Amino acid sequence: MSQAVVSEPLERTLVLVKPDGVRRGLAGEVIGRIEAKGYRLVALDLRTPDAALLAEHYAEHEGKPFYAPLVEFMGSGPVVALVAEGQRVIEGFRSLAGATDPTAAAPGTIRGDLGRDWGLAVQQNLVHGSDSPVSAAREIGLWFPAL
Ligand code: UDP
Repeated sequence: MSQAVVSEPLERTLVLVKPDGVRRGLAGEVIGRIEAKGYRLVALDLRTPDAALLAEHYAEHEGKPFYAPLVEFMGSGPVVALVAEGQRVIEGFRSLAGATDPTAAAPGTIRGDLGRDWGLAVQQNLVHGSDSPVSAAREIGLWFPAL
């Protein structure tokens, strides 16, 4: 009897190596983990994002106490923005990144292995990864409109 083969669709996610990660020289390490996991890079750029882009990127957090300091931090220096592709890459990169709080993030994850609290709670946690297909599409459109 033949079995039905369900082919999972390719997904894309937006990853940012935040200014703390770039300043600490960890961009290569993050990219290496994404590639070693088997995902494919489809876009890559180093840039210092302006306030307008960051306001759109973090629109869901507007009004929260950490919003203004977060936008200031994210604009404080270059970030590496990239798009990675693969089946279930959105979930897969979130799993590579680990929990938001780098102190609590599991060892083996990017935040758990390389991050810590620098006195600003969870603000500086090295990486961003889209959290859903809808967010990924929106964020890729913001950072890489040509894709
Ligand atoms: N953040 C912060 N203070 C908080 C919560 C979040 O500065 O109390 C920052 C942190 O850099 C985090 C980002 O806001 O990565 C987005 O928060 P979210 O809850 O979406 O976490 P993530 O999806 O990045 O794990």
